[in-house]
Amino acid sequence: MVKVVVCGGSIGGLSAALNLHKAGCEVLVYERASAIQPAGAGLGLDPDTVETMGELGLQEAFNLISRPIPFEEYRWLDSQAEQPGRAGVPIIINRQHNHVSLHWSDLHRMLYDALPTGIVKQAHSITAFQQHTNRVRVTVEQRADSSLPATFEVEADLLVAADGANSTVRKLLRPDDRRRYSGMIAWRGVVDGSSHPELLQALIEDYEHLDRGIIFDISSDCCMNLIYLLPGNRINWLWYRDAPEPKLSSHSVTVSATADDIRQLLSDADATWTPAFARLIKATERPFINAIFDKDPLSSWTYGRVVLVGEAAHPTTPHGSRSTNMSLQDSFALGRCIAASLDDIPQALQAFEKLRVQQTSQEVLFSRYVGEIRQGRWIDPRSFDWLSKPASTRTMLLNASRSIPDFHTVALGEFQSAGITVAGV
Ligand SMILES: Cc1cc2nc3c(=O)[nH]c(=O)nc-3n(C[C@H](O)[C@H](O)[C@H](O)COP(=O)(O)OP(=O)(O)OC[C@H]3O[C@@H](n4cnc5c(N)ncnc54)[C@H](O)[C@@H]3O)c2cc1C
Repeated sequence: MVKVVVCGGSIGGLSAALNLHKAGCEVLVYERASAIQPAGAGLGLDPDTVETMGELGLQEAFNLISRPIPFEEYRWLDSQAEQPGRAGVPIIINRQHNHVSLHWSDLHRMLYDALPTGIVKQAHSITAFQQHTNRVRVTVEQRADSSLPATFEVEADLLVAADGANSTVRKLLRPDDRRRYSGMIAWRGVVDGSSHPELLQALIEDYEHLDRGIIFDISSDCCMNLIYLLPGNRINWLWYRDAPEPKLSSHSVTVSATADDIRQLLSDADATWTPAFARLIKATERPFINAIFDKDPLSSWTYGRVVLVGEAAHPTTPHGSRSTNMSLQDSFALGRCIAASLDDIPQALQAFEKLRVQQTSQEVLFSRYVGEIRQGRWIDPRSFDWLSKPASTRTMLLNASRSIPDFHTVALGEFQSAGITVAGV
């Protein structure tokens, strides 16, 4: 039986494990975190990704934790306007968005519960590996059981690196690689609408399509927020802001907010957004900050019997909602390719790369492109009349929204002429 070690037990790692288990492999997942804990916030998945949940036999469980988001709407907001007259004016409505929303923790839990017991080893970090002709020998450090050795080695036919944007495995393979800081952070939060019924009502009155859509407010102050509902009336919000690169104290890209940061956030929210959105931020118990990075696409993810998947293979900015979609689709494709070629792993990996590298490279660049447009990097929104001029930026935004996740309409030349790198594609 083909033996696979997976590094990382987040969405990419657990879904890879499920797909490889289904393909007939013996799988072990080593995850650095000590326990499964509620974390993160909302995310959106596209129809192709949702289909992969069905292929894993998880459709019913998935329906229980997700909510249809058929609409995508962009509104323009003049932050100079007097309150309470400030309101979002719709500039684009895309009725073919066709995503679903869900909470990261619910998805993570569902994938974990779908795996046979004992496959995921928590408090275990992969620190090194050595390649041999037909095997890979992996070094693991464990903190789970003090009566056992702190370090041990396992052998496998394949090591799948699903260890995220800051991947240890990728660093061992490509020590000179660096991530690219996007110049933006995202403030994020989730509020339980059932505990705040008046706030939920105010938001539904303000955002006409909130019950069915993801809504972006683009402000004349050069920033953007977004809001959508998660199952159970939870309200997910996000606010992208330009900022110097934050100091990251751990492996995570999540930065702890200080009391001063939060005070400033609340006062800026009043000055920038609609009163209902500012109230939403105020009602959030623990708003948190994500620093936003990506990386120019790699032209290959396979190194002998080691393969990168998910964020380890293609760190991306969140603007195209691609990260979790790409991870789940990578895992699905990897499972299919291995199942078709169990006795020839290198050939399976070649087939996997053929399916995924070019596609995800475009998705990463596309997300970067969309983020730059939405953040007003290519124009000065204050001197731009979004409502009366059918100008090129509005058209770009429209194309950007329409072509997610169908990327074929954006020519690579468009990235290049905007000074966006297309290395490796
Ligand atoms: C706790 C958490 C909460 C998140 N919340 C959200 C969210 O709300 N919305 C959203 O869109 N995205 C969220 N993400 C990111 C999201 O999971 C990814 O963007 C996407 O799904 C790709 O996942 P990934 O598995 O490739 O990488 P990641 O999700 O980054 O997972 C990498 C995993 O590898 C583990 N790991 C790292 N190094 C090692 C090592 N050496 N040995 C063993 N394990 C290692 C990490 O602990 C982590 O669990 C979250 C990620 C995490 C870890």
